[in-house]
Amino acid sequence: MEYDDMLDRAIDETPDIEERESRFEVPDPEIRQEGNVTVVENFQALVDRLNRSESALLRYLQEELGTAAAIDESGRARLTGGFKRRRVAAAVDEYTRGHVICSECGLPDTRIVDQNGADVLKCDACGAIGGLGT
Ligand SMILES: [Zn+2]
Repeated sequence: MEYDDMLDRAIDETPDIEERESRFEVPDPEIRQEGNVTVVENFQALVDRLNRSESALLRYLQEELGTAAAIDESGRARLTGGFKRRRVAAAVDEYTRGHVICSECGLPDTRIVDQNGADVLKCDACGAIGGLGT
């Protein structure tokens, strides 16, 4: 029922899609170097904004940056090695485009679901199902 309502709303609001897309802004990562570790201070804000699990984003950052990472007791991400803010921001950008934004309608109203054993991106706004970006 709720899903149908969202579909109706999405159709009603079709002319606004471009405007809504341009308004989806992800916070810039706040980076602090701590010895040989790069701390992402606002990791929780990123996860909240992207509506993804901590572990999903952390795993992606580890793969993108080719390093080990962990989440500390304050919810910050700790990446082993020194990474510039721009590098981390680029990885978050990639994640947003490949794992959050719907490639069909450009909205971030998506979920990662299991389809025949593979993770796919399902859009709650337009119903599209697409592969995850890399
Ligand atoms: Zn969509």
